[in-house]
Amino acid sequence: MSIRARLDEVDRRIREACARSGRRREDVEIVAVTKYVSIETAREALRSGLVHLGENRWQEAAPKLRALQEEDPRPTWHFIGTLQTNKVKDVVGRFAYIHSLDRPSLAEAINRRAEQLGIRVPCFIQVNVSGEATKHGLAPEELIGFARTLADMRGIAVAGLMTMAPHVEDPEEARPVFRRLRELRDELNRAAVLPEEAPGLSMGMSNDFEVAVEEGATWLRLGTILVGKEEAVS
Ligand SMILES: *Cc1c(COP(=O)(O)O)cnc(C)c1O
Repeated sequence: MSIRARLDEVDRRIREACARSGRRREDVEIVAVTKYVSIETAREALRSGLVHLGENRWQEAAPKLRALQEEDPRPTWHFIGTLQTNKVKDVVGRFAYIHSLDRPSLAEAINRRAEQLGIRVPCFIQVNVSGEATKHGLAPEELIGFARTLADMRGIAVAGLMTMAPHVEDPEEARPVFRRLRELRDELNRAAVLPEEAPGLSMGMSNDFEVAVEEGATWLRLGTILVGKEEAVS
């Protein structure tokens, strides 16, 4: 199936989830996660109308960024994976968004690099809502304190919160995790510790995106369902 056909189907399902929850389709964006696929497939995603592309490792993303930087439309890159501090110099300035801000040392490194470049980087604070030991992210109770330390970092614009739901068979089981992230975002904005509102919710993947939309997702990160998965990409 072409990416265009898959996108049509995903779009239909997003519209239905929006209708069920009284939301507008235009308030939900898609990041097509190209980490599993070749440059050629990422190019097909762009030609199918997907402009936001997500990658989770700098080494594997770099050749794609180089190859696609002249395309029309050009991708807007999202860094969605765990970000090592020593990769910040490579990532900041090339990726428009970072979805995995999860610790003070990383915030300091991003801020320093952004200030050198004279830019502000929209970042999502990653929260480990489910509490699984294997997942990155702040504990929910650390969120407000962490946000307070970001308040005077001019190189960082907090775009919202991000989480990864546990991998479960029934997407309904992910619902409480998404709902909790939305509540945390609302608590963060009520606490007013940041200079601006942080409206975004980066949540929902191939197996659970409709539930995420129903719970308020503004950025879905979709890999397998949209662009598929290819063996031996690089
Ligand atoms: C790989 C990945 C995704 C996409 O996963 P799919 O289940 O293939 O949609 C989303 N978010 C993050 C952080 C990822 O690493």
